[in-house]
Amino acid sequence: QWILGIETSCDETAVAIIKNGREIVANVVASQIESHKRFGGVVPEIASRHHVEQITIVMEEALKQANITFAEIDAIAVTEGPGLVGALLIGVNAAKALAFAHNKPLVPVHHIAGHIYANRLVTELKFPLLALVVSGGHTELVYMKEHGHFEVIGETRDDAAGEAYDKVARTLNLPYPGGPHIDRLAHEGCPVIDLPRAWLEEGSYDFSFSGLKSAVINTVHNAAQRGETIAPEDLAASFQESVIDVLVTKTKKAVEEYGVKQLLVAGGVAANKGLRSALEKTFSDGKIELVIPPLSLCTDNAAMIAAAGSVMFEKGIRADLSLNAIPGLDIEIYNT
Ligand code: ATP
Ligand code: MG
Ligand code: FE
Repeated sequence: QWILGIETSCDETAVAIIKNGREIVANVVASQIESHKRFGGVVPEIASRHHVEQITIVMEEALKQANITFAEIDAIAVTEGPGLVGALLIGVNAAKALAFAHNKPLVPVHHIAGHIYANRLVTELKFPLLALVVSGGHTELVYMKEHGHFEVIGETRDDAAGEAYDKVARTLNLPYPGGPHIDRLAHEGCPVIDLPRAWLEEGSYDFSFSGLKSAVINTVHNAAQRGETIAPEDLAASFQESVIDVLVTKTKKAVEEYGVKQLLVAGGVAANKGLRSALEKTFSDGKIELVIPPLSLCTDNAAMIAAAGSVMFEKGIRADLSLNAIPGLDIEIYNT
């Protein structure tokens, strides 16, 4: 089974081809970070324009890497949402054009299902499992009893983890995207600044990071008003410790309550060194299998979309040529 995946939900134009749901044959990502950097974040209009310019080039490169033609592809999987509508539409329209021209099935994929399925490119999934999703726009705990079935048991009530990283980085005058910079700084500093942790109600698996973000901003501003400076590495270390403390504690509780066999980590923030080592330490007793994808599969790519698409294709999920981009798509929509 050969699946071609297309991803354009945000600021990466990506095409990949995978074999039998797990083997990467081609994986091409054109990042737009350089174009958005000077604005301190993703500018939707610029993102769409780049996708239009890049999609054909990236597609051709992927086919070249795989050394196959469209005749051998079984299905075309594309991110239908969530994401920026104008960005999503470029991928959706490219996928529809190819599906029509080559008479191939079209499989719609949820972007976060893709992030979760990046883990299947690392190892075979064992159910039931729990996925900790920590990305630029999402912070969720997702329970899966079987392939292609997603139950959100907790999610952020305000900022996503990655969003908080990026905003804190901006406060510290670090370039976009700020996550990797905070991560690096955090390892040079000490968590000596007292910052809040939002545990929310007893038993809740929801998250909240806006209070923490505001506390960091206030700490910086108050120090500036007093004419003092705070060591940015200590602030980064304190912020990172607070984020990781909440993520790991809630995840551990959910792993125990739901009795899962595997814990998958997904999304761009899964690239965080502090989070990776805290999770490795917490789950080192071997009771469950901890899976964290390599860095290149944590951030946006199309191999993960093809991996989720492979499973959705087997499940019989199809879209026709009326497929549209859905910016606020719900991950539970294809559960049966
Ligand atoms: P979503 O997947 O929710 O639609 P997205 O696709 O924009 O959002 P991803 O590409 O999964 O998000 O991840 C990007 C985020 O990951 C950014 O917020 C970035 O700062 C963060 N990130 C990347 N590397 C690190 C790191 N080492 N530490 C912390 N955060 C990181
Ligand atoms: Mg991105
Ligand atoms: Fe993403």
